[in-house]
Amino acid sequence: MGAPLDRSATWPYEAGEPGRFSYARADHPTGVACEEALGALDGGHALLYPSGMGAVTTVVLTMLRPGGTIALAEGAYYGHRVLFDHLAPWGVNVVEFDQTGPPPGDADLILVEAPANPILTMPDLEAAVAHAAPVVCDATVATPLRLRPLEHGCDVVLHSATKILAGHDDVLAGVTVTRDAELRDRLHTTRRLAGIVAPADTAWLVQRGLRTLEVRLARQEATARVLAERLAAHPAVQTVRYPGLSFLLSFDVADAAAAQRVESALGTIENATSLGGTRTKLEARHRWEGDRIPTGLIRLSAGLEDPAALWADLEQALGDA
Ligand code: PLP
Repeated sequence: MGAPLDRSATWPYEAGEPGRFSYARADHPTGVACEEALGALDGGHALLYPSGMGAVTTVVLTMLRPGGTIALAEGAYYGHRVLFDHLAPWGVNVVEFDQTGPPPGDADLILVEAPANPILTMPDLEAAVAHAAPVVCDATVATPLRLRPLEHGCDVVLHSATKILAGHDDVLAGVTVTRDAELRDRLHTTRRLAGIVAPADTAWLVQRGLRTLEVRLARQEATARVLAERLAAHPAVQTVRYPGLSFLLSFDVADAAAAQRVESALGTIENATSLGGTRTKLEARHRWEGDRIPTGLIRLSAGLEDPAALWADLEQALGDA
């Protein structure tokens, strides 16, 4: 049986008093059911948002004071950096640091990513949580099946559920998970007041995705491992980055022009942005991220297709590199 989908925006009071659900900007039953499932996976209190960026915006508005500094992992999701720069007029400062070591001393909020997209380093969580500032771990790519950052002492886990949690490239969603109930309540207050609320349909689709997460991840991970090994032996490929877990890898060809030739020569593999879906996708990232990454860097998200067919497609496309 599927989880009930209740699209109501408002529910009748009970005996003249608001009941558990009264107005959907606060909570709605489909969202709460989804949050219970997400919270169980990460071992904490989950909150759902209409995108991963909605989740990180809520975290910043709740946990950083004007004039504060966010220490962001180098090579982590570029959108985080762009958002924090955009929030500079509100007193948000950002410094990037190598997350394989300790964060800078003057950080007020630390954002690490496990693994960083697309540089694919893993954070040193022990060094991060030794810092006095709260630690947020974006574990979108690792998923709670491969890493549960709260168990390592992180304060908040962040997911873009748009990626492998929902898994089918048909919904945007974000998640925070915390152990501290008071922090969960503060995040919930920001979410409610700012209206950063995921619709019931979103919650329903995320829940449906969770039902197959384990099998999708196992298959996508096995394929990523095979592709990483084969890419490492290919003469047109310079560097392969694969952290040994999950579905995402990146590799370098000679330059931006060579990367674009690979993109244009693809058959089975989609040339599109995003990651974690059922279809294998590949994208040259330099066009978005500029000089923070190598010019020929290509990010590949392994999907559910036949690994042999994927390699055949990659091999022929690399022939044009
Ligand atoms: N975190 C990571 C690691 C991502 O890759 C992305 C999007 O690509 C986000 C956060 C932002 O999520 P969304 O696109 O759902 O807003």
